[in-house]
Amino acid sequence: MAGIYIHIPFCLTRCTYCDFYMGTNESHMETFVDALCGEAKRRKDETGEPVQTLYFGGGTPSRLHRAHFDRIFETLFTHYSFEPDAEITLEVNPDDLSGDYVRMLSELPFNRISIGIQSFNDDELRFLSRRHTGEEAMDAVKRCQQEGFHNISIDLMYGLPGQTKAIWQENLEKAIGLHIQHISSYHLIYEEKTRMFRLLKAGKIKPVQEETSTEMFALLIDTLTSHGFIHYEISAFGQPGYFSRHNCFYWKNEKYLGLGPAAHSYDGSNRSWNVASITRYNQSIGSGLVERETEQLSLHEKYNEFILTGLRTMWGVDLQELKIRFGERFHDFCLENAQRYIDQKLLKTEEGQLKLTREGIFISDGIMSDLMWV
Ligand code: SF4
Repeated sequence: MAGIYIHIPFCLTRCTYCDFYMGTNESHMETFVDALCGEAKRRKDETGEPVQTLYFGGGTPSRLHRAHFDRIFETLFTHYSFEPDAEITLEVNPDDLSGDYVRMLSELPFNRISIGIQSFNDDELRFLSRRHTGEEAMDAVKRCQQEGFHNISIDLMYGLPGQTKAIWQENLEKAIGLHIQHISSYHLIYEEKTRMFRLLKAGKIKPVQEETSTEMFALLIDTLTSHGFIHYEISAFGQPGYFSRHNCFYWKNEKYLGLGPAAHSYDGSNRSWNVASITRYNQSIGSGLVERETEQLSLHEKYNEFILTGLRTMWGVDLQELKIRFGERFHDFCLENAQRYIDQKLLKTEEGQLKLTREGIFISDGIMSDLMWV
């Protein structure tokens, strides 16, 4: 088993753009931690090899207290074996990172911190319903560095309504000035069931123009790569030696175990996902079951995932591996469909790897969907 993901489904409030599974009632937290430890014990035999990456995501894992972390780590270290250099990441929100809290985190096994900053611009942060200011976010990063964390990632969002290229450039410059090791950056998506989506439908906000989105993406790539970051996945940039090992497992179709409500797992052939309800999750673990659904991926679905995840990364799709895993038919199908993009210099083959070119990255969704087997 390559990695373990733990979903902590609590946030203080909901951000306007968020459709992740989470709740704001923290009174369930104790029962939840009991249930989580129960699930970890019950599923310990699903991991066949030492754990290489452990990722606490959410939700907002920094809503947990020291006693919660102690119980979770004790359970995991008792029932699973870990590689000595395992990557152990905690997702945090800047507003939780008081001096005492960061000091407490530095005493725990975390060796990577991923901070949900999104923007350093206070108007944007208010619009997104984030609970911190730009200055507080910068202070939070510095506190982590002072407490000895030297593998720090931040999330930044672009393509917000009303965002100008100048504001985006300023956000990027502030991020670079923090001397962090990793940046994940996503274009705003109007997910159904979010407040942002309702504002859009009501005509109260206007999405940025497609041309501006493209220019912002180009600015992101050019600015970060000129400061030593490697653009190793469509949304991820890391300094050499600081790529997210956990996310690389997802992109390389490795197995992972997902614990907690709404967490997904993959065992190499089947995907499963736990019930997306804290109450039902707690009850199901209490009664000795883990309520979850499972689907077995067909060969076509596995091929589609192989192409999708491979093309998103700088390593691309290994054509020899494609042939070995899926056979001549899928290999030829992929290359036949890729040819017109190769001719247009949107895809390229390099040492047996099929990759997006810089131009191709900007229309990657369309290219990938043309290589899908439907
Ligand atoms: S903090 Fe993260 S998970 Fe929580 S509501 Fe905001 S975006 Fe969603």
